[in-house]
Amino acid sequence: MLIDQYNQVKENVKKACERAGRDPRDVTIIAVSKTKPLEMIEELRKAKVKDFGENKVQELKEKYEKISWPVRWHLIGHLQTNKVKYIVDKVALIHSVDSVHLAKQIDKEAAKRQMKEVPVLIQVNFAHEDTKFGLAPEETENVIKEIAALEHVKIKGLMQIAPFVDDPEENRKYFRAMKQLSVDIKNKNFDNVDMSILSMGMTNDYEVAVEEGATMIRVGTGIFGERNYSI
Ligand SMILES: *Cc1c(COP(=O)(O)O)cnc(C)c1O
Repeated sequence: MLIDQYNQVKENVKKACERAGRDPRDVTIIAVSKTKPLEMIEELRKAKVKDFGENKVQELKEKYEKISWPVRWHLIGHLQTNKVKYIVDKVALIHSVDSVHLAKQIDKEAAKRQMKEVPVLIQVNFAHEDTKFGLAPEETENVIKEIAALEHVKIKGLMQIAPFVDDPEENRKYFRAMKQLSVDIKNKNFDNVDMSILSMGMTNDYEVAVEEGATMIRVGTGIFGERNYSI
């Protein structure tokens, strides 16, 4: 049963919280359902799982339209400016804002729909991987200041996709760096900037991420099993 795998992740989060002196209620597990069928989402939903993540706009939109029950959708993958309009009013949180240009488009589409604000995270690339999206840590603060000026966009924290490594300990430094950056930014008390969410940690490394302060982890394989991209 899928819920058993989900509960195993939950148990591991609880243990990681105990090691770090944290409250497990401060960690939200996002079930990353990309490539997985609606039936699997439904199965988890029936067991009271509410947060699901998708990395592609098209897939999120399709699933959103086919599902009639309430789900909190998280867009966790790269978002192109021209696709903002398809999801801006369908998601609980956009994790992957990495430019002022993109944030301005979100602001514009939200205003059009008379949405008060769209909650977003700022994606930062701590390992400086060329293959990954995200801001360089040193440019993050300035970009945040600019985005904070937008009326319909609300910054809620930071997100990172850490490198794929065999030993999750290798990513600890990047998780720690993100926590530190969020504290630094929080201490500056910018208007309209909230640093309460740290979205970091995937199947391979979420326990380390939780030890370092993650408040949202994004787990796909660890809940749904391996993905098959060929179907
Ligand atoms: C696919 C994906 C995940 C989940 O990856 P797993 O290793 O299967 O847990 C998390 N975050 C993002 C941005 C993803 O695209």
